[in-house]
Amino acid sequence: MDRIDIRSLTYGELTEQIQGMGLPAYRAGQLYQWLHQKQAASFDGMTNLPASLRSRLAEHFELVVLKPVEVKVSAIDGTRKYLFALPDGNVIESVLMRYKHGNSVCISSQVGCRMGCRFCASTLDGLERNLRPSETLEQVYRIGRETGERVSNVVVMGSGEPLDNYDSLLRFLRLLTDEKGLNISQRNITVSTCGLVPQMLRLAEEDLQITLALSLHAADDATRRQLMPVARRYPLAEVLDACRTYFRKTGRRMTFEYSLVRGVNDSRAEAEALAALLKDQHGHVNLIPVNPIRERSYVQSERKTVEAFQNYLEKSGINVTIRREMGRDINGACGQLRRSYLGSQEVRSCET
Ligand code: SAH
Repeated sequence: MDRIDIRSLTYGELTEQIQGMGLPAYRAGQLYQWLHQKQAASFDGMTNLPASLRSRLAEHFELVVLKPVEVKVSAIDGTRKYLFALPDGNVIESVLMRYKHGNSVCISSQVGCRMGCRFCASTLDGLERNLRPSETLEQVYRIGRETGERVSNVVVMGSGEPLDNYDSLLRFLRLLTDEKGLNISQRNITVSTCGLVPQMLRLAEEDLQITLALSLHAADDATRRQLMPVARRYPLAEVLDACRTYFRKTGRRMTFEYSLVRGVNDSRAEAEALAALLKDQHGHVNLIPVNPIRERSYVQSERKTVEAFQNYLEKSGINVTIRREMGRDINGACGQLRRSYLGSQEVRSCET
């Protein structure tokens, strides 16, 4: 029988499990603290539990711990990019960014992705599998432990489509913000989606105070469909309607991500269309000069085009920022560290 993934259990579920084993409920409290506050990496390290209980727990439960395979550190701004091995040997990426207002961790929600956005490296090999709640949490926990620094912000903007792994995402959010756990403020969490409308509407009903970011990348359906296959399923009118609903239900302003690709979505006409599209939205636009990947021929917009795009939006009364590039020297777009690692593994296995 498969052991139960203990770090994915809520406090209530853990208590039930512990009582089911004939143990007193206070043991669940101790365990939960080890799992989510002290972020224990083994049952053996849980020193206030008797040794006999620790070995019983290890038989009954699986304790998910991620192992760093590679850490790249930026000499410019201290950004750290991690390649983590999951218990089944798959690898994922996470990034720690240091800002004045605190440390922010960007995590992956899936191994690979099936959304197929044309400019994104994470989706080139499709979806391998969903991450479990413990595996998403562990990215935050391991980075916090490894640096010894507090993580104050979490953005679910790494590889994968978080709303395509909805139940796991929700459990992750509840555990991460639990007062009995790491207790990260909901307002310091951002979830980014390519625009899965039914799940956006569902998220609006969850009574959460997180920020929702929509990957827009185009102001008309034809261009958006060219960049993002998901746009064939959900036209802009429906996606933007879901954004209005999200704001109405939660009071949280949206973030609209717009990656600028030279000659594809960066013209003056497109800035005008974007301003018109977002006129009645509550939120701001985050412009990202596209990060070119080897497998595709997309090129970054010129600096002056990016600035002209920003100026036009500003003049039209839209809040807009250009995303600051972090860790330029260790860069590589989303999913590229993993791809280069997998590529080198293949070469090695061919050699032997
Ligand atoms: N699946 C989620 C999270 C993906 S990554 C989503 O689609 O929002 C977070 C952001 O980075 C998304 O806006 C995504 O479109 C963007 N992105 C991915 N690859 C990129 C690249 N090479 N250059 C610029 N932005 C990229």
